[in-house]
Amino acid sequence: MRFIFLGPPGAGKGTQAKQEAETLGALYIATGDELRKAMAAGTPLGAEAKSYIAAGKLVPDDVMIGLVRELLRQPAGAKGVIFDGFPRTLPQAEALDRVLAEQGGAVDGVLYFDVPAAAVIERLGGRRVCRGCGATYHVQHNPPRTAGKCDQCGGELYQRDDDQPETVRERLRVYEAQTASLLDYYQAKGFLVRIHADRTIEQVREEVRAAMAKPVRRA
Ligand code: AMP
Repeated sequence: MRFIFLGPPGAGKGTQAKQEAETLGALYIATGDELRKAMAAGTPLGAEAKSYIAAGKLVPDDVMIGLVRELLRQPAGAKGVIFDGFPRTLPQAEALDRVLAEQGGAVDGVLYFDVPAAAVIERLGGRRVCRGCGATYHVQHNPPRTAGKCDQCGGELYQRDDDQPETVRERLRVYEAQTASLLDYYQAKGFLVRIHADRTIEQVREEVRAAMAKPVRRA
């Protein structure tokens, strides 16, 4: 089963997607995580992505499509895939349809994490990320057991540069301008399920599981 978790930054997609992918043994593809890994490792991809990410802009479509094509080659994808943060533009969505079709597959469902802009700003402001394993926390809504330390691997928690208020505003503008139109694209195909993402992590998880248990379409 292949699911896309769609919605603005800070909607809680990553928190839910990581959990569900682990439970299902599915491949978790988070393009933002991949770009941050590439930046930390100093690869050419990381060097290319750096200035776009710092400015809250999107990395060019051809780079992202190439990256996802590579990531989908992993054997773990046979058990299913959850996409988080991809696609973000119409050309990316169309390319994903083509790449999956080449593999004899298709998108099975799109979960739209619907959350008001004010909540997004508050969530991103309090978000902390583990340097070691990428797990995410929120200083109030989902704090680690020990302040500043990851529950899962003991790694150091940090605040992403692009979670600073100025960059967040730009990321939200970019979401509205370039990503929100994907809702119409998937709605027209009949794939879209709306998730009330402005609730607790546990409540959202229940809705996510219900939505994934009866996908709109099978590959
Ligand atoms: P995220 O972790 O999903 O919030 O992504 C962080 C940043 O990585 C975004 O603000 C973009 O600069 C870049 N990025 C991640 N995924 C994509 C994508 N599918 N298309 C373009 N840029 C992306």
